[in-house]
Amino acid sequence: MDPKTYSKEEHGINVDDIDAHALYVLDKLRLAGHEAYLVGGGVRDLLLGIKPKDYDISTSAKPEEVKKIFRNCLLIGRRFRLAHVRFGRKIIEVATFRAGDTENESLIVRDNIFGTPEEDVLRRDFTINGLFYDSEKEHVIDFVEGYPDIKKRFLRTIGQSFVRFKQDPVRMIRLLKFIARFGLDADTEARQALLECRAEILKSAQARVLEELLRMLESGSAAPFFKLMAEHGLLEQIMPTLAEFLETPEGGDVYSYLEELDRSNHEPHHPKYARPTLVTAFIFPLFEARLKTRFLDREKKPHLGDIFEEAHALIDDAFKPFFIFPKRIRAQVTSILVNQYRITPFDPKRKTRIRIPIDPDFFQTLDFLKLRVALKPTLSPIYEQWSEAFEKGEKPIPRSSSGTKRNRPRRRKKS
Ligand code: ATP
Ligand code: MG
Repeated sequence: MDPKTYSKEEHGINVDDIDAHALYVLDKLRLAGHEAYLVGGGVRDLLLGIKPKDYDISTSAKPEEVKKIFRNCLLIGRRFRLAHVRFGRKIIEVATFRAGDTENESLIVRDNIFGTPEEDVLRRDFTINGLFYDSEKEHVIDFVEGYPDIKKRFLRTIGQSFVRFKQDPVRMIRLLKFIARFGLDADTEARQALLECRAEILKSAQARVLEELLRMLESGSAAPFFKLMAEHGLLEQIMPTLAEFLETPEGGDVYSYLEELDRSNHEPHHPKYARPTLVTAFIFPLFEARLKTRFLDREKKPHLGDIFEEAHALIDDAFKPFFIFPKRIRAQVTSILVNQYRITPFDPKRKTRIRIPIDPDFFQTLDFLKLRVALKPTLSPIYEQWSEAFEKGEKPIPRSSSGTKRNRPRRRKKS
């Protein structure tokens, strides 16, 4: 099929808005005699008038050929080799045109057959993600009717939604992610297919699903996204305990935390929250509710050891049985949770001494405390005192020969 092409007068993308390194990679691939286009999320974002976070390139060059062209290039992936061209911290991902089966319902297990440009876009998830941009002619190339969909702000799968969700259930989460992020209107067929296929999500690799959820906590659209996840019954599949909690009166606090995260993520120059802080914001209301029913309602005050155990149990209950939660994030979330009760103990009469632990991740405890302040302004003076002490303690730190910050003998970390 011949694609539709849109000239720069029609699509309005200004080539100067595109990352110079991405343009350089495209030029060099073309000079070496290959076809090469910008593809996927980058083209979509440019057409929506948003600055793309990253740029993906599709090309006729085979991975080994890409490697020969760029010195700063690493081939990654076992099943399907991708080239990462590095410029400092920035990575431009270059993939060879690949074919996929768009009609077979079975779960995709291999994805490693080279193909034509048309096949390469047909295997992609949504029409808005299936456009090429040719940086030489400054054309948008459309095999999937994605251009009119972007203009209508309409979200539609490439091919039959039911088949495409069965092949790769992560696409259902991606459907909700694009609705939440861009306020798009989704096709009825896709919504219907999601309701029919939602249990299939459990067949996906948990690491891919966890990555999509973590990215959404960072996205600035976490509240609408998780609302959609709950409404469409997807959250119930992968995090049943949390989905049930959202139905209770205290469940609304989860959305208040997510809204606060979104608000600060939209602030210009706001530093990015670390992932453990984001995860804590997501589960803290459930933690508070549990401590209440297990201790406070029984007239018991939990001590820090109890809180530590409850924190572990909570992470298990919230993320199991589907997710295998990474150990490092787990330890950090536990530490943020327990530290909250060191700083703001249950007994308001107990005077807490301000002591900043030697823990390079302690800033996460304070970042989370700041989120709590937004919901409960009476905590503000405590936050101010602790963060002032933290900032002061950070300044004149002598460095040991190993270069690590240390001004006292190392203690064993408690958590
Ligand atoms: P983001 O802005 O969050 O990065 P994105 O659409 O760029 O969104 P990526 O995960 O970076 O998402 O994927 C890049 C491109 O790869 C997508 O635009 C889409 O064309 C394709 N793609 C990603 N995931 C899938 C999938 N599960 N099935 C088919 N195609 C996919
Ligand atoms: Mg992307």
